[in-house]
Amino acid sequence: MTAAFLSPRSGDSPDALDIVAIGEAMVEFNQQPGNLSASSAYVQGFGGDTSNMVIAASRQGARTAYVTRIGDDAFGGLLQDLWRQEGVETSAVRVVPGGRTGAYFVTHGPQGHAFSYARSHSAATGLTAADIPDSLLARTRMLHASGISLAISSSAANATLSAMERATDVGVTVCFDPNVRPTLWPMPMARALVGAAARLCDVFLPGVDDLRLLAGVSTPQEGLDWCRAQGVRTTVLKDGPRQVWIDHQGETTTVPAFAVQVVDASGAGDCFDGALESRLAVGDSLKQAVRYAAAAAALSATGLGAVAPVPPEAAVRAFLSERGMA
Ligand code: ADP
Repeated sequence: MTAAFLSPRSGDSPDALDIVAIGEAMVEFNQQPGNLSASSAYVQGFGGDTSNMVIAASRQGARTAYVTRIGDDAFGGLLQDLWRQEGVETSAVRVVPGGRTGAYFVTHGPQGHAFSYARSHSAATGLTAADIPDSLLARTRMLHASGISLAISSSAANATLSAMERATDVGVTVCFDPNVRPTLWPMPMARALVGAAARLCDVFLPGVDDLRLLAGVSTPQEGLDWCRAQGVRTTVLKDGPRQVWIDHQGETTTVPAFAVQVVDASGAGDCFDGALESRLAVGDSLKQAVRYAAAAAALSATGLGAVAPVPPEAAVRAFLSERGMA
């Protein structure tokens, strides 16, 4: 597990990419803590697991592009501004005339926070295989996709699986996070399609809750056994504030999580994926990349929102060096 996970880059062209991500982005409205009456104010932010992930990768220095559909509405414009500010290439972001960009609301109550989505019939549900052209896959080293894109529509599911298959055919390393959302689809369908995607990818990136929902397992070790039984090649299993499990080439190892003062860990998994893939792209071993990603994800959990607190590379390096792990 100490060798570079990806083969070294050779002869990059000026438009070469490290990571292309495909999925749905949304605008977030987060109820301000401390003011929980019905008329309270909402702070606008951004979300969508794959968009969060690709921004996290870009903040670590990776060359990134995002593939999605957005509406020609104000929310779509905000997202485009965000990706441009973050250095994420938008050549494959399609603006759908008359389409709507998804949004969601985060409310805070005695039971913690709750998500309410306004995303049905969003522009991203119309994603097709043609939205991710072979010419884009030919420019990248890695492709990132999520189970949410398999769930939102059959067209988006087909686009995602097609991109994963074609990427594999041309030697692109494919990473897949199941991000299982029981409200988006019935579990037998989730099991079937997530299972297919997990077999197709090079690196499977579930959290323990995903495997609990998908496989009914109660421990990380049982979860890893299930992944192996599905024919998954490499699993990186995220277990919140505890540790990260790596199952690769028949060997299982763990990397501890970092202790931090947590404010909001809701986007930590997306930040973890982006940071991990950015490090794999530049030649880290799986274990080195996981340790870096755990540091980035821990830091991202110390602020509110899924995008704003994602640290840049310098902050992750400083955090690791403070802990004697530079
Ligand atoms: P997901 O969001 O995919 O369910 P997790 O909640 O396990 O994933 O979080 C992803 C990663 O973020 C973890 O593997 C860990 O490295 C980091 N992380 C999450 N919660 C915390 C926390 N409370 N303290 C420190 N690190 C955390």
